Amino acid sequence: MADPTNRKRRVTFLLLPAIVAAVLVVGAFLYRASRQIEQVRKLSVIEATLSLANEKADRLDRLIIEQDNAVSSLVDVTLPHEVAQKWLPTAARETPTIRAVLVIDLSVRDAQVLGFASRSPGPEDEAFRRLVVHKLRADLDLGTAPSDELRHLHKPYGGQSYLVSYWLRAAVGRRYLVVAWHDVPRLVHEVFPRLFADQSGKARVSIADEEGRPVYGSAVRAGELTVGRPFPTTLYGWRISVTLTSADELGERIERRRTLELVLVAIACVVIIAGVGFVLYAVEEERRLSEQKSEFVANVSHELKTPLSLVRMFAELLLSGRVASDEKRKQYLEIMLTESERLTALIENVLDFARVDRGRATFDFSAYSLSEVVQRAVEIYRYRAEREGLEIDVSLAEDMPPVRLDPRAIELCLINLLDNAIKYAKDGGRVTVKTAFDGRMATLSVEDRGAGIAPEDIRRIFDRFVRGKSARDARIRGTGIGLSLVKHIAEAHGGTARVESEVGRGSRFIVTLPLWRGPLPSPDGSGKVAS
Ligand code: ADP
Repeated sequence: MADPTNRKRRVTFLLLPAIVAAVLVVGAFLYRASRQIEQVRKLSVIEATLSLANEKADRLDRLIIEQDNAVSSLVDVTLPHEVAQKWLPTAARETPTIRAVLVIDLSVRDAQVLGFASRSPGPEDEAFRRLVVHKLRADLDLGTAPSDELRHLHKPYGGQSYLVSYWLRAAVGRRYLVVAWHDVPRLVHEVFPRLFADQSGKARVSIADEEGRPVYGSAVRAGELTVGRPFPTTLYGWRISVTLTSADELGERIERRRTLELVLVAIACVVIIAGVGFVLYAVEEERRLSEQKSEFVANVSHELKTPLSLVRMFAELLLSGRVASDEKRKQYLEIMLTESERLTALIENVLDFARVDRGRATFDFSAYSLSEVVQRAVEIYRYRAEREGLEIDVSLAEDMPPVRLDPRAIELCLINLLDNAIKYAKDGGRVTVKTAFDGRMATLSVEDRGAGIAPEDIRRIFDRFVRGKSARDARIRGTGIGLSLVKHIAEAHGGTARVESEVGRGSRFIVTLPLWRGPLPSPDGSGKVAS
Protein backbone atom coordinates (compact mmCIF):
# COMPACT_ATOMS: atom_id res chain seq x y z
CA MET A 1 0.00 0.00 0.00
CA ALA A 2 1.30 3.50 -0.86
CA ASP A 3 2.50 5.55 2.10
CA PRO A 4 -0.24 8.19 2.75
CA THR A 5 2.35 10.93 3.52
CA ASN A 6 4.07 10.24 0.24
CA ARG A 7 0.74 10.23 -1.56
CA LYS A 8 -0.13 13.62 -0.03
CA ARG A 9 3.25 14.98 -1.07
CA ARG A 10 2.80 13.76 -4.59
CA VAL A 11 -0.68 15.31 -4.75
CA THR A 12 0.72 18.60 -3.41
CA PHE A 13 3.55 18.60 -5.93
CA LEU A 14 1.12 17.91 -8.77
CA LEU A 15 -1.58 20.24 -7.51
CA LEU A 16 0.56 23.34 -7.06
CA PRO A 17 1.85 23.48 -10.65
CA ALA A 18 -1.75 22.80 -11.76
CA ILE A 19 -2.90 25.81 -9.70
CA VAL A 20 -0.18 27.99 -11.27
CA ALA A 21 -1.19 26.80 -14.75
CA ALA A 22 -4.88 27.45 -14.00
CA VAL A 23 -4.16 30.96 -12.72
CA LEU A 24 -2.02 31.70 -15.76
CA VAL A 25 -4.77 30.46 -18.08
CA VAL A 26 -7.42 32.56 -16.30
CA GLY A 27 -5.08 35.57 -16.40
CA ALA A 28 -4.46 35.06 -20.12
CA PHE A 29 -8.20 34.75 -20.82
CA LEU A 30 -9.02 37.87 -18.84
CA TYR A 31 -6.30 39.75 -20.62
CA ARG A 32 -7.49 38.56 -24.01
CA ALA A 33 -11.11 39.41 -23.23
CA SER A 34 -10.17 42.92 -22.18
CA ARG A 35 -8.12 43.31 -25.36
CA GLN A 36 -11.08 42.19 -27.43
CA ILE A 37 -13.35 44.72 -25.74
CA GLU A 38 -10.75 47.40 -26.47
CA GLN A 39 -10.55 46.23 -30.05
CA VAL A 40 -14.33 46.55 -30.50
CA ARG A 41 -14.28 49.98 -28.92
CA LYS A 42 -11.41 51.01 -31.17
CA LEU A 43 -13.20 49.70 -34.22
CA SER A 44 -16.30 51.73 -33.48
CA VAL A 45 -14.12 54.83 -33.03
CA ILE A 46 -12.41 54.09 -36.34
CA GLU A 47 -15.76 53.67 -38.07
CA ALA A 48 -17.03 56.96 -36.70
CA THR A 49 -13.80 58.67 -37.75
CA LEU A 50 -13.95 57.17 -41.22
CA SER A 51 -17.52 58.34 -41.83
CA LEU A 52 -16.49 61.81 -40.67
CA ALA A 53 -13.48 61.76 -43.03
CA ASN A 54 -15.77 60.67 -45.90
CA GLU A 55 -18.26 63.39 -45.13
CA LYS A 56 -15.53 66.08 -45.04
CA ALA A 57 -13.96 64.87 -48.28
CA ASP A 58 -17.37 64.72 -50.01
CA ARG A 59 -18.16 68.26 -48.90
CA LEU A 60 -15.09 69.60 -50.69
CA ASP A 61 -15.88 67.56 -53.81
CA ARG A 62 -19.45 68.83 -53.82
CA LEU A 63 -18.34 72.42 -53.41
CA ILE A 64 -15.95 72.18 -56.37
CA ILE A 65 -18.34 70.25 -58.60
CA GLU A 66 -21.17 72.70 -57.94
CA GLN A 67 -18.91 75.49 -59.22
CA ASP A 68 -17.89 73.39 -62.23
CA ASN A 69 -21.56 72.84 -63.07
CA ALA A 70 -22.23 76.54 -62.78
CA VAL A 71 -19.45 77.27 -65.27
CA SER A 72 -20.61 74.46 -67.52
CA SER A 73 -24.10 75.93 -67.74
CA LEU A 74 -22.72 79.38 -68.60
CA VAL A 75 -20.23 78.46 -71.28
CA ASP A 76 -21.48 78.28 -74.87
CA VAL A 77 -18.70 76.76 -76.99
CA THR A 78 -20.17 78.16 -80.18
CA LEU A 79 -19.64 81.65 -78.75
CA PRO A 80 -16.25 81.26 -77.08
CA HIS A 81 -15.50 84.99 -77.08
CA GLU A 82 -18.44 85.60 -74.79
CA VAL A 83 -17.15 83.39 -71.96
CA ALA A 84 -15.84 86.32 -69.97
CA GLN A 85 -18.97 88.30 -70.53
CA LYS A 86 -21.21 85.50 -69.33
CA TRP A 87 -19.16 84.09 -66.51
CA LEU A 88 -17.33 86.98 -64.89
CA PRO A 89 -20.36 88.94 -63.56
CA THR A 90 -21.38 86.04 -61.29
CA ALA A 91 -17.95 84.47 -60.86
CA ALA A 92 -17.09 85.92 -57.48
CA ARG A 93 -20.39 84.79 -56.03
CA GLU A 94 -21.10 81.51 -57.82
CA THR A 95 -17.61 80.15 -58.49
CA PRO A 96 -15.27 81.76 -55.98
CA THR A 97 -12.45 79.23 -56.31
CA ILE A 98 -12.34 79.19 -60.13
CA ARG A 99 -9.63 81.50 -61.35
CA ALA A 100 -9.98 81.20 -65.09
CA VAL A 101 -12.03 79.44 -67.78
CA LEU A 102 -10.67 78.31 -71.12
CA VAL A 103 -12.31 77.07 -74.32
CA ILE A 104 -10.10 75.16 -76.77
CA ASP A 105 -10.96 73.90 -80.22
CA LEU A 106 -9.68 70.33 -80.42
CA SER A 107 -10.69 69.85 -84.06
CA VAL A 108 -7.75 71.90 -85.42
CA ARG A 109 -4.29 70.41 -85.39
CA ASP A 110 -2.56 72.59 -82.79
CA ALA A 111 -5.48 73.00 -80.43
CA GLN A 112 -6.38 76.61 -80.55
CA VAL A 113 -7.51 78.62 -77.50
CA LEU A 114 -10.77 80.18 -78.64
CA GLY A 115 -11.92 81.76 -75.44
CA PHE A 116 -10.29 82.75 -72.15
CA ALA A 117 -11.63 84.54 -69.10
CA SER A 118 -9.70 85.29 -65.93
CA ARG A 119 -10.93 86.74 -62.66
CA SER A 120 -7.60 88.36 -61.93
CA PRO A 121 -5.82 88.96 -65.25
CA GLY A 122 -2.04 88.89 -64.99
CA PRO A 123 1.12 87.29 -66.35
CA GLU A 124 0.18 83.96 -64.71
CA ASP A 125 -2.76 83.65 -67.09
CA GLU A 126 -0.50 83.43 -70.11
CA ALA A 127 1.69 80.86 -68.36
CA PHE A 128 -1.40 78.81 -67.57
CA ARG A 129 -2.59 78.94 -71.18
CA ARG A 130 0.78 77.68 -72.35
CA LEU A 131 0.76 74.98 -69.67
CA VAL A 132 -2.63 73.72 -70.81
CA VAL A 133 -1.76 73.64 -74.49
CA HIS A 134 1.73 72.18 -74.21
CA LYS A 135 1.74 69.96 -71.14
CA LEU A 136 -1.44 69.58 -69.21
CA ARG A 137 -3.54 68.70 -72.28
CA ALA A 138 -1.50 65.55 -72.72
CA ASP A 139 -2.46 64.41 -69.20
CA LEU A 140 -6.20 64.88 -69.72
CA ASP A 141 -8.36 61.89 -70.43
CA LEU A 142 -9.76 63.04 -73.77
CA GLY A 143 -10.00 59.91 -75.81
CA THR A 144 -12.65 57.91 -74.01
CA ALA A 145 -14.57 60.62 -72.20
CA PRO A 146 -18.16 60.88 -73.39
CA SER A 147 -19.27 64.26 -74.31
CA ASP A 148 -20.01 66.68 -71.45
CA GLU A 149 -18.77 64.41 -68.71
CA LEU A 150 -17.08 66.39 -65.97
CA ARG A 151 -13.54 65.26 -65.14
CA HIS A 152 -10.73 66.52 -62.94
CA LEU A 153 -6.98 66.62 -63.10
CA HIS A 154 -4.99 67.22 -59.92
CA LYS A 155 -1.26 67.28 -60.44
CA PRO A 156 1.80 69.34 -59.59
CA TYR A 157 3.55 71.18 -62.44
CA GLY A 158 6.77 73.02 -61.80
CA GLY A 159 6.40 72.49 -58.07
CA GLN A 160 2.92 74.01 -58.01
CA SER A 161 -0.25 72.03 -57.46
CA TYR A 162 -2.90 72.44 -60.18
CA LEU A 163 -6.56 71.44 -60.06
CA VAL A 164 -8.52 71.73 -63.27
CA SER A 165 -12.05 70.63 -64.09
CA TYR A 166 -12.70 69.84 -67.73
CA TRP A 167 -15.28 68.48 -70.07
CA LEU A 168 -15.59 67.86 -73.80
CA ARG A 169 -18.36 69.35 -75.80
CA ALA A 170 -19.36 68.73 -79.46
CA ALA A 171 -21.07 71.40 -81.51
CA VAL A 172 -21.60 72.02 -85.16
CA GLY A 173 -19.35 69.10 -86.08
CA ARG A 174 -16.39 70.30 -83.96
CA ARG A 175 -14.93 69.11 -80.59
CA TYR A 176 -14.28 71.64 -77.88
CA LEU A 177 -12.56 71.35 -74.51
CA VAL A 178 -13.70 73.54 -71.65
CA VAL A 179 -11.23 73.91 -68.74
CA ALA A 180 -11.96 75.55 -65.36
CA TRP A 181 -8.80 76.43 -63.43
CA HIS A 182 -9.29 76.21 -59.67
CA ASP A 183 -7.24 78.45 -57.45
CA VAL A 184 -5.58 75.87 -55.18
CA PRO A 185 -3.98 78.36 -52.72
CA ARG A 186 -7.38 79.97 -52.32
CA LEU A 187 -8.94 76.54 -51.66
CA VAL A 188 -6.32 75.92 -48.99
CA HIS A 189 -6.51 79.31 -47.30
CA GLU A 190 -10.18 80.14 -47.58
CA VAL A 191 -12.19 77.00 -48.24
CA PHE A 192 -10.36 74.44 -46.10
CA PRO A 193 -10.64 76.45 -42.89
CA ARG A 194 -14.33 76.96 -43.56
CA LEU A 195 -15.01 73.30 -44.33
CA PHE A 196 -12.62 71.59 -41.96
CA ALA A 197 -12.21 73.92 -39.01
CA ASP A 198 -12.98 72.11 -35.81
CA GLN A 199 -15.71 74.27 -34.35
CA SER A 200 -17.04 71.74 -31.88
CA GLY A 201 -13.58 70.63 -30.76
CA LYS A 202 -14.49 67.02 -31.53
CA ALA A 203 -12.20 66.25 -34.44
CA ARG A 204 -8.93 67.42 -35.93
CA VAL A 205 -8.47 67.46 -39.70
CA SER A 206 -5.24 67.69 -41.60
CA ILE A 207 -4.46 67.49 -45.30
CA ALA A 208 -1.19 66.34 -46.79
CA ASP A 209 0.06 66.69 -50.36
CA GLU A 210 1.42 64.01 -52.72
CA GLU A 211 4.67 63.90 -50.78
CA GLY A 212 2.98 63.69 -47.39
CA ARG A 213 3.84 67.30 -46.49
CA PRO A 214 1.14 69.02 -44.44
CA VAL A 215 -0.89 71.47 -46.52
CA TYR A 216 -3.54 72.26 -43.99
CA GLY A 217 -3.85 71.67 -40.25
CA SER A 218 -1.11 70.51 -37.95
CA ALA A 219 0.38 67.20 -38.93
CA VAL A 220 -1.72 64.51 -37.25
CA ARG A 221 0.29 61.91 -35.42
CA ALA A 222 -0.41 58.76 -37.40
CA GLY A 223 -1.82 56.65 -34.61
CA GLU A 224 -4.10 53.65 -34.62
CA LEU A 225 -7.15 55.87 -34.25
CA THR A 226 -6.39 58.34 -37.07
CA VAL A 227 -8.17 57.67 -40.33
CA GLY A 228 -6.74 58.95 -43.62
CA ARG A 229 -8.04 58.74 -47.18
CA PRO A 230 -7.47 60.52 -50.50
CA PHE A 231 -10.10 62.97 -51.76
CA PRO A 232 -12.31 60.88 -54.06
CA THR A 233 -12.79 63.05 -57.15
CA THR A 234 -11.28 66.49 -57.10
CA LEU A 235 -8.06 66.94 -55.10
CA TYR A 236 -7.35 63.24 -55.44
CA GLY A 237 -3.57 63.66 -55.15
CA TRP A 238 -3.99 64.82 -51.57
CA ARG A 239 -4.96 62.96 -48.44
CA ILE A 240 -7.32 63.99 -45.69
CA SER A 241 -6.67 62.65 -42.17
CA VAL A 242 -9.14 62.87 -39.32
CA THR A 243 -8.68 62.17 -35.64
CA LEU A 244 -11.47 62.37 -33.12
CA THR A 245 -10.32 64.36 -30.13
CA SER A 246 -11.97 61.80 -27.90
CA ALA A 247 -9.91 59.12 -29.68
CA ASP A 248 -6.69 60.69 -28.45
CA GLU A 249 -7.94 60.44 -24.93
CA LEU A 250 -9.31 56.97 -25.55
CA GLY A 251 -6.01 55.87 -27.08
CA GLU A 252 -4.11 57.13 -24.07
CA ARG A 253 -6.60 55.54 -21.70
CA ILE A 254 -6.35 52.21 -23.53
CA GLU A 255 -2.57 52.41 -23.52
CA ARG A 256 -2.52 53.22 -19.80
CA ARG A 257 -4.98 50.46 -18.99
CA ARG A 258 -3.07 47.94 -21.11
CA THR A 259 0.17 48.77 -19.32
CA LEU A 260 -1.53 48.58 -15.94
CA GLU A 261 -3.16 45.24 -16.79
CA LEU A 262 0.13 43.86 -18.05
CA VAL A 263 1.91 44.98 -14.89
CA LEU A 264 -0.86 43.53 -12.70
CA VAL A 265 -0.86 40.21 -14.55
CA ALA A 266 2.95 40.07 -14.33
CA ILE A 267 2.92 40.91 -10.60
CA ALA A 268 0.17 38.35 -9.96
CA CYS A 269 2.13 35.68 -11.84
CA VAL A 270 5.33 36.47 -9.98
CA VAL A 271 3.49 36.44 -6.62
CA ILE A 272 1.76 33.16 -7.43
CA ILE A 273 4.91 31.49 -8.70
CA ALA A 274 6.92 32.77 -5.73
CA GLY A 275 4.10 31.66 -3.39
CA VAL A 276 3.94 28.23 -4.94
CA GLY A 277 7.72 27.96 -4.82
CA PHE A 278 7.66 28.93 -1.16
CA VAL A 279 4.88 26.43 -0.35
CA LEU A 280 6.81 23.67 -2.13
CA TYR A 281 9.94 24.64 -0.24
CA ALA A 282 8.01 24.76 3.07
CA VAL A 283 6.40 21.36 2.38
CA GLU A 284 9.80 19.88 1.59
CA GLU A 285 11.38 21.48 4.68
CA GLU A 286 8.53 20.25 6.86
CA ARG A 287 8.97 16.74 5.46
CA ARG A 288 12.70 16.82 6.08
CA LEU A 289 12.21 18.09 9.61
CA SER A 290 9.62 15.46 10.44
CA GLU A 291 11.95 12.78 9.05
CA GLN A 292 14.78 14.16 11.17
CA LYS A 293 12.53 14.28 14.22
CA SER A 294 11.53 10.66 13.92
CA GLU A 295 15.18 9.75 13.39
CA PHE A 296 15.99 11.79 16.49
CA VAL A 297 13.37 9.94 18.55
CA ALA A 298 14.78 6.61 17.35
CA ASN A 299 18.35 7.74 18.17
CA VAL A 300 17.42 9.00 21.65
CA SER A 301 15.58 5.76 22.41
CA HIS A 302 18.59 3.78 21.27
CA GLU A 303 20.92 6.00 23.28
CA LEU A 304 18.79 5.44 26.38
CA LYS A 305 18.39 1.74 25.83
CA THR A 306 22.05 0.80 25.47
CA PRO A 307 23.37 2.19 28.78
CA LEU A 308 20.23 1.07 30.61
CA SER A 309 20.63 -2.53 29.45
CA LEU A 310 24.34 -2.45 30.42
CA VAL A 311 23.52 -1.10 33.90
CA ARG A 312 20.84 -3.71 34.28
CA MET A 313 23.04 -6.54 33.03
CA PHE A 314 25.91 -5.73 35.42
CA ALA A 315 23.53 -5.11 38.33
CA GLU A 316 22.01 -8.56 37.78
CA LEU A 317 25.49 -10.09 37.58
CA LEU A 318 26.51 -8.48 40.85
CA LEU A 319 23.25 -9.47 42.53
CA SER A 320 23.58 -13.08 41.42
CA GLY A 321 26.78 -13.30 43.55
CA ARG A 322 28.56 -15.09 40.78
CA VAL A 323 31.27 -12.43 40.43
CA ALA A 324 34.18 -13.95 42.27
CA SER A 325 36.92 -11.30 42.45
CA ASP A 326 36.76 -7.84 44.00
CA GLU A 327 38.58 -6.50 41.00
CA LYS A 328 35.83 -7.68 38.62
CA ARG A 329 33.16 -6.31 40.92
CA LYS A 330 34.93 -2.92 40.88
CA GLN A 331 35.20 -3.03 37.10
CA TYR A 332 31.46 -3.78 36.75
CA LEU A 333 30.55 -1.00 39.15
CA GLU A 334 32.74 1.41 37.16
CA ILE A 335 30.94 0.44 33.96
CA MET A 336 27.60 1.01 35.67
CA LEU A 337 28.82 4.42 36.82
CA THR A 338 30.06 5.45 33.36
CA GLU A 339 26.86 4.34 31.71
CA SER A 340 24.67 6.16 34.21
CA GLU A 341 26.84 9.29 33.72
CA ARG A 342 26.27 8.97 30.01
CA LEU A 343 22.54 8.60 30.63
CA THR A 344 22.49 11.70 32.81
CA ALA A 345 24.46 13.70 30.22
CA LEU A 346 22.15 12.58 27.46
CA ILE A 347 19.01 13.41 29.40
CA GLU A 348 20.42 16.81 30.36
CA ASN A 349 21.28 17.50 26.76
CA VAL A 350 17.81 16.53 25.58
CA LEU A 351 16.15 18.63 28.29
CA ASP A 352 18.33 21.63 27.44
CA PHE A 353 17.60 21.17 23.80
CA ALA A 354 13.86 20.98 24.48
CA ARG A 355 14.07 24.25 26.43
CA VAL A 356 15.96 25.94 23.59
CA ASP A 357 13.59 24.51 21.00
CA ARG A 358 10.56 25.87 22.82
CA GLY A 359 12.29 29.21 23.34
CA ARG A 360 12.29 28.69 27.11
CA ALA A 361 16.05 28.59 27.66
CA THR A 362 17.17 31.26 30.11
CA PHE A 363 20.72 32.29 30.80
CA ASP A 364 22.25 33.90 33.82
CA PHE A 365 25.03 36.08 32.45
CA SER A 366 27.67 37.61 34.60
CA ALA A 367 31.42 38.34 34.59
CA TYR A 368 33.35 35.05 34.85
CA SER A 369 36.87 33.86 34.29
CA LEU A 370 36.59 31.71 31.17
CA SER A 371 39.75 29.82 32.16
CA GLU A 372 38.17 28.70 35.45
CA VAL A 373 34.96 27.59 33.77
CA VAL A 374 36.94 25.66 31.14
CA GLN A 375 39.20 24.05 33.69
CA ARG A 376 36.27 22.89 35.80
CA ALA A 377 34.50 21.32 32.81
CA VAL A 378 37.69 19.65 31.58
CA GLU A 379 38.36 18.20 35.02
CA ILE A 380 34.85 16.74 35.17
CA TYR A 381 35.40 15.19 31.78
CA ARG A 382 39.08 14.24 31.85
CA TYR A 383 38.57 10.96 33.70
CA ARG A 384 36.01 9.75 31.19
CA ALA A 385 38.12 10.87 28.22
CA GLU A 386 41.21 9.10 29.46
CA ARG A 387 39.23 5.97 30.07
CA GLU A 388 38.25 6.13 26.41
CA GLY A 389 41.91 6.61 25.42
CA LEU A 390 41.88 10.33 24.72
CA GLU A 391 44.14 12.86 26.35
CA ILE A 392 43.02 16.42 26.91
CA ASP A 393 45.61 19.22 26.64
CA VAL A 394 44.58 22.55 28.02
CA SER A 395 46.21 25.79 26.98
CA LEU A 396 44.73 28.83 28.69
CA ALA A 397 45.42 32.45 27.80
CA GLU A 398 47.01 34.40 30.60
CA ASP A 399 45.54 37.61 31.99
CA MET A 400 42.31 37.17 30.14
CA PRO A 401 39.76 39.81 31.18
CA PRO A 402 36.43 38.54 32.55
CA VAL A 403 33.95 37.19 30.01
CA ARG A 404 30.20 37.71 29.93
CA LEU A 405 28.84 34.16 30.25
CA ASP A 406 26.55 31.67 31.92
CA PRO A 407 28.95 29.04 33.36
CA ARG A 408 26.50 26.12 33.21
CA ALA A 409 25.77 26.81 29.54
CA ILE A 410 29.47 27.14 28.62
CA GLU A 411 30.26 23.88 30.48
CA LEU A 412 27.50 22.22 28.48
CA CYS A 413 29.06 23.57 25.27
CA LEU A 414 32.49 22.30 26.15
CA ILE A 415 31.24 18.90 27.28
CA ASN A 416 29.34 18.48 24.01
CA LEU A 417 32.48 19.36 22.03
CA LEU A 418 34.64 16.99 24.12
CA ASP A 419 32.02 14.26 23.84
CA ASN A 420 32.10 14.66 20.05
CA ALA A 421 35.90 14.44 20.12
CA ILE A 422 35.61 11.12 21.98
CA LYS A 423 33.03 9.85 19.52
CA TYR A 424 34.56 11.01 16.26
CA ALA A 425 38.27 11.63 16.90
CA LYS A 426 39.35 9.02 19.42
CA ASP A 427 41.93 7.75 16.95
CA GLY A 428 43.73 11.10 17.09
CA GLY A 429 44.59 10.31 20.70
CA ARG A 430 44.67 13.90 21.87
CA VAL A 431 42.39 16.92 22.09
CA THR A 432 43.52 20.47 22.71
CA VAL A 433 41.29 22.92 24.51
CA LYS A 434 42.47 26.50 24.13
CA THR A 435 41.34 29.92 25.20
CA ALA A 436 42.43 33.20 23.69
CA PHE A 437 41.16 36.77 23.47
CA ASP A 438 41.47 39.99 21.53
CA GLY A 439 40.22 43.50 22.27
CA ARG A 440 36.54 42.55 22.18
CA MET A 441 36.04 38.79 22.21
CA ALA A 442 37.26 35.68 23.99
CA THR A 443 37.72 32.46 22.04
CA LEU A 444 37.29 28.89 23.24
CA SER A 445 38.47 26.20 20.84
CA VAL A 446 38.48 22.42 20.89
CA GLU A 447 40.85 20.87 18.40
CA ASP A 448 41.14 17.18 17.60
CA ARG A 449 43.24 15.11 15.26
CA GLY A 450 40.46 12.86 14.06
CA ALA A 451 39.06 12.09 10.61
CA GLY A 452 37.70 15.60 10.03
CA ILE A 453 34.36 16.56 8.50
CA ALA A 454 33.40 16.29 4.81
CA PRO A 455 32.91 19.75 3.22
CA GLU A 456 29.29 18.95 2.25
CA ASP A 457 28.50 18.22 5.94
CA ILE A 458 30.22 21.30 7.39
CA ARG A 459 27.48 23.63 6.19
CA ARG A 460 24.71 21.84 8.11
CA ILE A 461 26.13 20.12 11.17
CA PHE A 462 25.15 23.08 13.40
CA ASP A 463 21.48 22.63 12.40
CA ARG A 464 19.27 20.68 14.76
CA PHE A 465 18.86 16.92 14.21
CA VAL A 466 21.53 16.95 11.52
CA ARG A 467 24.14 14.20 11.70
CA GLY A 468 27.13 13.85 9.42
CA LYS A 469 27.07 11.18 6.75
CA SER A 470 30.18 9.46 8.05
CA ALA A 471 28.71 9.43 11.58
CA ARG A 472 25.57 7.74 10.31
CA ASP A 473 27.47 5.33 8.06
CA ALA A 474 29.82 4.30 10.88
CA ARG A 475 26.80 3.89 13.18
CA ILE A 476 28.37 6.12 15.83
CA ARG A 477 25.85 6.87 18.56
CA GLY A 478 24.34 10.36 18.49
CA THR A 479 21.18 12.41 18.28
CA GLY A 480 22.18 15.41 16.13
CA ILE A 481 21.41 18.04 18.78
CA GLY A 482 24.85 18.64 20.39
CA LEU A 483 26.25 21.20 17.94
CA SER A 484 22.89 22.97 17.53
CA LEU A 485 22.95 23.50 21.32
CA VAL A 486 26.54 24.79 21.13
CA LYS A 487 25.56 27.25 18.41
CA HIS A 488 22.44 28.40 20.21
CA ILE A 489 24.34 28.97 23.45
CA ALA A 490 27.15 30.88 21.70
CA GLU A 491 24.70 33.11 19.88
CA ALA A 492 22.65 33.72 23.03
CA HIS A 493 25.91 35.00 24.58
CA GLY A 494 26.37 37.41 21.66
CA GLY A 495 29.08 35.24 20.14
CA THR A 496 29.44 32.66 17.37
CA ALA A 497 30.19 28.97 16.88
CA ARG A 498 31.97 27.62 13.82
CA VAL A 499 34.25 24.81 12.70
CA GLU A 500 37.41 24.56 10.66
CA SER A 501 38.05 21.07 9.46
CA GLU A 502 40.15 19.15 7.00
CA VAL A 503 39.34 15.58 6.11
CA GLY A 504 42.05 13.26 7.46
CA ARG A 505 43.67 15.93 9.65
CA GLY A 506 41.09 16.84 12.27
CA SER A 507 38.66 19.57 13.23
CA ARG A 508 38.71 22.72 15.29
CA PHE A 509 35.48 23.97 16.84
CA ILE A 510 35.64 27.62 17.79
CA VAL A 511 33.24 29.41 20.11
CA THR A 512 33.57 33.18 20.56
CA LEU A 513 32.14 35.02 23.56
CA PRO A 514 32.12 38.74 24.32
CA LEU A 515 34.36 40.12 27.03
CA TRP A 516 32.65 41.67 30.04
CA ARG A 517 32.05 45.41 29.65
CA GLY A 518 31.22 47.81 32.43
CA PRO A 519 31.74 47.63 36.20
CA LEU A 520 32.32 44.23 37.83
CA PRO A 521 29.51 42.73 39.94
CA SER A 522 29.80 42.46 43.74
CA PRO A 523 31.13 39.13 45.16
CA ASP A 524 28.57 36.41 45.94
CA GLY A 525 30.74 33.28 46.20
CA SER A 526 29.48 31.75 42.94
CA GLY A 527 32.83 31.99 41.18
CA LYS A 528 31.99 35.22 39.45
CA VAL A 529 34.84 37.62 38.88
CA ALA A 530 34.00 40.21 41.48
CA SER A 531 35.02 43.81 41.93
P1 ADP B 1 25.73 13.94 17.10
O1 ADP B 1 27.14 13.91 17.56
O2 ADP B 1 24.80 13.50 18.15
O3 ADP B 1 25.52 13.31 15.80
P2 ADP B 1 26.21 16.77 16.92
O4 ADP B 1 25.29 17.91 16.70
O5 ADP B 1 27.02 16.84 18.17
O6 ADP B 1 25.34 15.48 16.86
O7 ADP B 1 27.19 16.67 15.71
C1 ADP B 1 26.68 16.73 14.42
C2 ADP B 1 27.58 16.01 13.43
O8 ADP B 1 28.83 16.70 13.31
C3 ADP B 1 27.97 14.63 13.83
O9 ADP B 1 26.97 13.70 13.46
C4 ADP B 1 29.31 14.42 13.13
O10 ADP B 1 29.05 13.98 11.82
C5 ADP B 1 29.88 15.81 13.06
N1 ADP B 1 30.93 16.03 14.10
C6 ADP B 1 30.78 16.69 15.26
N2 ADP B 1 31.94 16.77 15.94
C7 ADP B 1 32.87 16.16 15.16
C8 ADP B 1 34.27 15.91 15.27
N3 ADP B 1 34.97 16.31 16.36
N4 ADP B 1 34.89 15.26 14.29
C9 ADP B 1 34.21 14.85 13.18
N5 ADP B 1 32.88 15.06 13.00
C10 ADP B 1 32.22 15.69 13.98
